[in-house]
Amino acid sequence: MHQDKTLTCQDCGKDFIFSAAEQDFYAEKGFTNEPKRCADCRKLKKMQHRDVQGSRPPVQIVCANCGKTDTVNFKPRGDRPVLCADCFRKQRDSQGQQAHVQPTAEMQPGEPMAIGEEQPA
Ligand SMILES: [Zn+2]
Ligand SMILES: [Zn+2]
Repeated sequence: MHQDKTLTCQDCGKDFIFSAAEQDFYAEKGFTNEPKRCADCRKLKKMQHRDVQGSRPPVQIVCANCGKTDTVNFKPRGDRPVLCADCFRKQRDSQGQQAHVQPTAEMQPGEPMAIGEEQPA
């Protein structure tokens, strides 16, 4: 079957063993690519990945209202102005009473209404 293979890590440049067992594992999973990183770098990569996933990094924005740079912890959408924390608060306060709510991406647009199915003829 497989034999241990020595590969070179593309991250740290160290040689590492792609063991027969690992090759079996890869073959079993249907992976055709050999690992590009040593176990250490893979572990490191995974940890970094988890960090990014776990905590949202602040995104720098330029306030559409006052032009100040600020950071937000959500991904700004291109089709809407992004406000700094101050302006956002002000806007929210001033619009609080009026029902001025814009639909967000989270809402399903254009959901067809279920009418006409059980209407008497
Ligand atoms: Zn490495
Ligand atoms: Zn602002």
